[in-house]
Amino acid sequence: MGEINSNNLTPGMRQYMQIKEQHPDCLVLFRMGDFYETFYQDAKTAAKELDITLTSRGKGEKKAPLAGIPYHSIQPYIAKLIQKGYKVCMVEQMEDPKKAKGLVKRDVVRIITPGTVIDETILSTKTNNYIMSINKEKDEVAVAISDISTGEFSVFMSSEDKLENELNKYQPSEIILPLSLENSDFVKSLGNYFTNYFDDMFYFDEKAMKTVQEQFSSIPDLYPLLITSAGALISYLKQTQKNDLQHINKVSVINTEDFMLLDKITLQNLNIISNKKDDASTLLSIIDYTKTSMGSRMLRGWLLKPLLNFDKINQRLNAVEELRENLVLKEQLSTILGNMQDLERLITRVVFKTASPKDLIALRNTLDKIPNLNNILRVTSSGLLKEKLEEFSKLVTLIRDAIKEDPNTITREGNMIRKGYNAELDNLKKIKSDSRQWLLAFEEREKQKTGIKYLKVKFNKVFGYFLEVSKSNLDLVPDYYIRKQTQLNCERFITPELKEKENIILTADEKINELEYNLFMEVIEEVSGYTDSIKNVSSRIAVIDTIQSFASASIIHNYSRPNVSDSNKISIVNGRHPVVESLEENFISNNLEMNDDMNMMIITGPNMAGKSVYIKQNALIILLAQIGCFVPAEKCHIGIVDRIFSRVGASDDIASGHSTFMVEMSETANILSNATDRSFVVLDEIGRGTSTYDGVSLAWAIAEYIITKIKAKTLFATHYHHLNKMTDEFPSIKNYNIAVSEKEDEIIFLRKIVEGGTDKSYGIHVAKIAGLPDEVIDASKRIITQLEMEDEIGDMIHKNLKSNNISQKEKEEIMQKTLLDL
Ligand code: ADP
Ligand code: MG
Repeated sequence: MGEINSNNLTPGMRQYMQIKEQHPDCLVLFRMGDFYETFYQDAKTAAKELDITLTSRGKGEKKAPLAGIPYHSIQPYIAKLIQKGYKVCMVEQMEDPKKAKGLVKRDVVRIITPGTVIDETILSTKTNNYIMSINKEKDEVAVAISDISTGEFSVFMSSEDKLENELNKYQPSEIILPLSLENSDFVKSLGNYFTNYFDDMFYFDEKAMKTVQEQFSSIPDLYPLLITSAGALISYLKQTQKNDLQHINKVSVINTEDFMLLDKITLQNLNIISNKKDDASTLLSIIDYTKTSMGSRMLRGWLLKPLLNFDKINQRLNAVEELRENLVLKEQLSTILGNMQDLERLITRVVFKTASPKDLIALRNTLDKIPNLNNILRVTSSGLLKEKLEEFSKLVTLIRDAIKEDPNTITREGNMIRKGYNAELDNLKKIKSDSRQWLLAFEEREKQKTGIKYLKVKFNKVFGYFLEVSKSNLDLVPDYYIRKQTQLNCERFITPELKEKENIILTADEKINELEYNLFMEVIEEVSGYTDSIKNVSSRIAVIDTIQSFASASIIHNYSRPNVSDSNKISIVNGRHPVVESLEENFISNNLEMNDDMNMMIITGPNMAGKSVYIKQNALIILLAQIGCFVPAEKCHIGIVDRIFSRVGASDDIASGHSTFMVEMSETANILSNATDRSFVVLDEIGRGTSTYDGVSLAWAIAEYIITKIKAKTLFATHYHHLNKMTDEFPSIKNYNIAVSEKEDEIIFLRKIVEGGTDKSYGIHVAKIAGLPDEVIDASKRIITQLEMEDEIGDMIHKNLKSNNISQKEKEEIMQKTLLDL
């Protein structure tokens, strides 16, 4: 803004410029009376992004582009700006303009960024809004993560290559990083996040330890690099929020080894929390019967972080079983939870002093239910349910005594404090109501005295209280009435006596509003003293609600308890696909049996037979078991898996063949370098994205690499029946197909998985059903028989790989290198 000469500016604009200079990266919303104004470049940006009118202020050299938004409707505009990736700097008037001498004092009250939103109209109640800070030293990465709307704060270490997957679990809205990492390959590898950079030394180093010590009541033994990330994050939050963030007072250390890693592609393919078709179901939507917002956020968190520890999984399963067995108990719980509000975000608004009187009522009503909740849970015996929750009778009483039942939503206009709470307030209100009585009596008296029939005491903002007399009665008006205004049908007067009373009423009003505000703030202060215990209680309620949700899902969808162990066995009896079964009227269940001796299934079968559904349902059942939920199967045994991978071959309907095939191969390469013998891998038509020869060869090579080198349990769905030949060489592979039967050249899908390969291409049958002329169908039948005789592709590959005179080791190296290079 070099062209702006500050000498030419009005004092107000000079004040604006000072603030803007300190926050060049923000869009500044500058409160002036009833508007938030934006100026200069910000005004142009706001006008464009928010579709509001661009005008200007001042004349000549003082002329400045300006765009304003009325203060009472600011929220949706802020939301839009944040969604579009702007940081918004809120500047408020720090004193009443009426009382200000000279220029009104203004100051920055908050900086709102995508990761620091607390406004409930912007936030989704069902998801956390995370902000992260990342620091890096060689290959080690230290992450601090927080959701300021709930007060959660945790830290974890990761390696560089695992970080992207860790980010998936939280999907942060914003990341802060040291300046030295700006434009680095590391940052580019993270993907597309809203990022901010800060001075390494200042934020991430010198200040960090002190900041951390000041914030948290106790600090666990932290790796030094973690302290730098945590310190930087707190500095950033404090600086933007202008608040001491009293609710962020506990730091928990996450051990990433405790949780299953789910990469982005697996999350997408299995439709765990999202589905490309927006309206389609996800695993989350199928099992989400949570009744509270904190519960729904926790459920989502659990789904993204399946457990690896046998005891922890069983702890959850025990609790689910207890509710599943006791329907009355479960129903009682659902009902009481359904009446509980979002304690986490309520207490955050209390800490930020933005809570409304209605928020306090919601808080009170929710806390007031805890004794009842304890009562319901008294009969439970599982660890996650039985421990008594803290009760808040003192706080409930305080709010009940202080705040009216149906209070104002605004804090500055009175009508919040209950009668009997404060004697001075009651007295002021009495003066006010006495004066109202007086006004009525006064009106009556004046009528009597003057004989005017139409005479009324009225009030408006310009004149205050006045007497209105209709035109026909004007001759009766006494001379001590002072005329103020003439209307069409009447005239308006005041009298000294009336003005005196008016003064009393208005001062009382002003005093009432001020006193109510102060009393309200005292209550807020008092409530914020309970932040810690309210946070504890709300996370307990979140757990109880999530368990309740699992129990509800298992009742509604007829799930059973999985038998989870450390074994290397997976056995599923009559498993179902949790999402597809909700859409398919007649869903056919299927079994799975895998162990040390049998860890790969090659699954063939015609298009639409149910291959994809089958392999995914098994992955989903394992995932559900490891988050501690019951599963859609008659019974099952799950030996805990360390990771689940799901990959789908590039489909024909995706354009640009080559690049999608590249994607397909590099996604597969990622499995080959990360899976272990405890992983569960589902591969769906891998190799499809290229020509048949390439495709078969690669599919074969990938399967061979997994079975010989990795030994991960693998389900490989493919329409290359040539892969069936692999069983000749590898005894731990078994061929399966999804049965179909044929009747008069028509295919009937049986949807049952059976042992054995297929040697038949059903494409021709599908073509017939689709109505291709008989001539074409007959010709294709002739051609395929010929091809099958001439070209035993499977055999060829098989032989080639064997007879190339290279050692098994070399072969593996070549295979691995080709795949990893892709
Ligand atoms: P493929 O991968 O073999 O081409 P899919 O797994 O995509 O076939 O299944 C095709 C359709 O068949 C699914 O969309 C579903 O409607 C139906 N389907 C699949 N498996 C089952 C099943 N076990 N029971 C009932 N319907 C099924
Ligand atoms: Mg398929």
